[in-house]
Amino acid sequence: VADDAPLLEARDIVVAFGSFRAVDGASLAIRKGEIIGLIGPNGAGKSTFFNCLAGERQPASGSIMLRGRDVTRASPEDHALLGLARSWQVPAVFDDMSVHENVMVGAFLRHPHAAEAAAAADQVIDFTGLRPVARARSGSLGTPARKRLEIARALATEPEILLLDEALAGLTPTEVRAAIDLVRQIHARGITLVIVEHVMEVILSLAHRAVVFNQGKVIAQGAPRDVVQDPGVIEAYLGR
Ligand code: ADP
Ligand code: MG
Repeated sequence: VADDAPLLEARDIVVAFGSFRAVDGASLAIRKGEIIGLIGPNGAGKSTFFNCLAGERQPASGSIMLRGRDVTRASPEDHALLGLARSWQVPAVFDDMSVHENVMVGAFLRHPHAAEAAAAADQVIDFTGLRPVARARSGSLGTPARKRLEIARALATEPEILLLDEALAGLTPTEVRAAIDLVRQIHARGITLVIVEHVMEVILSLAHRAVVFNQGKVIAQGAPRDVVQDPGVIEAYLGR
């Protein structure tokens, strides 16, 4: 992939549920090293678009290129192997497993032997600040640790690009600031990020570019400070 080619590029993505188009011709090009903030009202199609980017849903039309390869119809596993990881809006951790075991699930992608996966998981647990709860049952965690575990499991797959879908939702302001620090450290490791987030402080302090979804379409994008003042964007939020 040439240096200026997008790391991930979605073109004209359409996802329909019956006659309703949840994603209606959305395009987005993500360059290496960017932090993109994806915003928009509830029901705008952000999570459905993420599902397409991660290979969990095939669009009715449109194309997705990841590191120069057409992955429009590729499986989530193929996306992961090519270096794309995501967290879910609804946390999908295995409650009965320990934190360390959950992170190992991610680490197995690159480390087929259990001892290596365990060691790789240990590094991610230290990096994400989960060491104090590494042996705890995942189902016993509070919201902040659970959100961190989601991110840790995604990081354990050693991604080049990480999609976070409301990974900071439900956190107190203090916890949000700690999570912002974690996202900065992830970015400092050279990982490209796309974050869906409702807390504008997060978008304003982290994102290089804000992309606004409304009714399945990208209605605005640009510098976060400009985008949040765009009359069309304000109208989209108030119109629902
Ligand atoms: P967002 O993440 O921006 O809040 P979603 O992508 O979750 O939006 O949803 C976009 C729209 O598609 C919503 O109206 C939602 O109800 C609808 N939708 C999402 N998933 C499904 C599904 N599996 N079946 C039917 N409708 C869906
Ligand atoms: Mg969503």
